[in-house]
Amino acid sequence: MLRSPLSFLRNRIPEIPHLELLATEEEWWRGEGVGISADIDRGGTPWLRMFDRDGKRADEIVYPREYQTILKRGYRAGVVWRALEEKSLSPTYSLMHVISFYDPGVCCPYTVSLGTAVPLAKYGSGELQTRFLAQLLRKDDSVWQGATWMTEIKGGSDLGAAVETIARPAGDGWRLTGEKYFTSNAGAELAVVAARPEGAAAGVRGVALFLVPRNRANGELNYLVRRLKDKIATRSVPTGEVELKESEGYLLGSADRGIYMILEVLNLSRVANSVVSVALAQRAMAEALTYAERRSAFGKRIIEHPLLRRQFEERVNGLKAAFALAWESVRLLNEVWMERPPYSEKYQLFRLVAHLAKYWTAEFAADTAKWAMEVHGGLGVLAEYGAERWLREAMILAIWEGTSHRQILDGMEVMERQRAHKLLFGRLEEHALSKEVEGLEEEVERHLRLPTEEREAQAEGIFRKLAIFTAETLARRMK
Ligand SMILES: Cc1cc2nc3c(=O)[nH]c(=O)nc-3n(C[C@H](O)[C@H](O)[C@H](O)COP(=O)(O)OP(=O)(O)OC[C@H]3O[C@@H](n4cnc5c(N)ncnc54)[C@H](O)[C@@H]3O)c2cc1C
Repeated sequence: MLRSPLSFLRNRIPEIPHLELLATEEEWWRGEGVGISADIDRGGTPWLRMFDRDGKRADEIVYPREYQTILKRGYRAGVVWRALEEKSLSPTYSLMHVISFYDPGVCCPYTVSLGTAVPLAKYGSGELQTRFLAQLLRKDDSVWQGATWMTEIKGGSDLGAAVETIARPAGDGWRLTGEKYFTSNAGAELAVVAARPEGAAAGVRGVALFLVPRNRANGELNYLVRRLKDKIATRSVPTGEVELKESEGYLLGSADRGIYMILEVLNLSRVANSVVSVALAQRAMAEALTYAERRSAFGKRIIEHPLLRRQFEERVNGLKAAFALAWESVRLLNEVWMERPPYSEKYQLFRLVAHLAKYWTAEFAADTAKWAMEVHGGLGVLAEYGAERWLREAMILAIWEGTSHRQILDGMEVMERQRAHKLLFGRLEEHALSKEVEGLEEEVERHLRLPTEEREAQAEGIFRKLAIFTAETLARRMK
């Protein structure tokens, strides 16, 4: 079960849809994709061809040829189009579990493309949808890619203070000027971009969300890619820096609701991050198992030694718990993703579960990748054994889409302001001892009554405890 992402999915969710599709994807990845992914990780990072042969600015992201094979395959399989056509996110996230077991990085372009298509479908005017949506939902290799660019040089956590990109009304749209410092999927045909309409309020309330195409209406480049980042992992994703210079942009929804839309985009990516984290942990464990069954020490295979065997069994339980938490966030998001503000109670519950899931699954993935490397002993640090890659990949999962600190603090806020933990405990009651639920609820309430400084300083312990308790309780429900 551990060595196959689909077997694990089926074991946890027997009614998982699109079995045949998932099986085809897994088979292809196991046979061909896995080699392409390893090659790209080792040396095939995309590069930026800034000028064409006539010296004209081109800003083309050049990939190894095989990259297109893995990238386009996921789009064709429906990682984006199925969500809107089938009105469900579960095909997207189950495809992501299978794909990211083999290549966690490639799920980033899929996630940001989904994060472009969904707000366009929800908040874009009829005219914008007619102009752009169909391209993002194409089922062949001509599909457009999306991107979600919020972060600027001053930082990603405090968007209200950091977003300095300015938007000015112009004709039937807007002109955006500013610099985006972390732009995954640079080169995408269409991006959603956070910018501040001129004269808007300070802080997050003054940030709006715009659609920015790669090309202007006259065909010229609409944004420039300054450079691509040289990263520790997710090498299959071109993450760059982008300059917006009087770039043509189109407002999504109303300007004073931008922050809600940005958070909705983040919802999609945080849930994706949770699914990918679990799949990565599964992959690291599968490789550790294969190795431990082969390697011998003290007269027997290392997996047969009680200490290692126990660690392994406990980690399998941890994986099931992390999976249950991630998929609870998928289930809840599926119920609320079409909501608009003012949101329902269920949306607030989703927010809390998504923060718990993003936080805990990323921590679990990084810890599991470190453990898997240790199981390989000294060979684990050698590139040819593969274990070091999962550790590199895992380190990114805890940072992008909001660091673990942000998940903890935002999760605390949704408990304090929306009382979301009440709903969570109500949901867990059926599968946990009432004494346990009541005890933890009291602890959370006590924590929320602490003075602000102390509440923040001590937040990680209680948040971690809540995440593990939620994950383990939900895993019992899945048995
Ligand atoms: C590979 C990669 C790709 C990315 N792609 C994109 C992209 O496509 N689009 C995009 O918009 N962004 C992207 N990002 C940026 C990412 O979202 C940010 O890195 C992340 O939000 C954190 O922001 P920062 O790096 O500026 O850290 P900062 O905000 O500067 O924070 C630095 C540290 O301080 C901590 N911190 C901040 N505030 C608090 C607080 N109140 N309490 C405690 N600790 C705090 C943070 O948690 C962090 O540990 C990408 C990042 C990476 C690594």
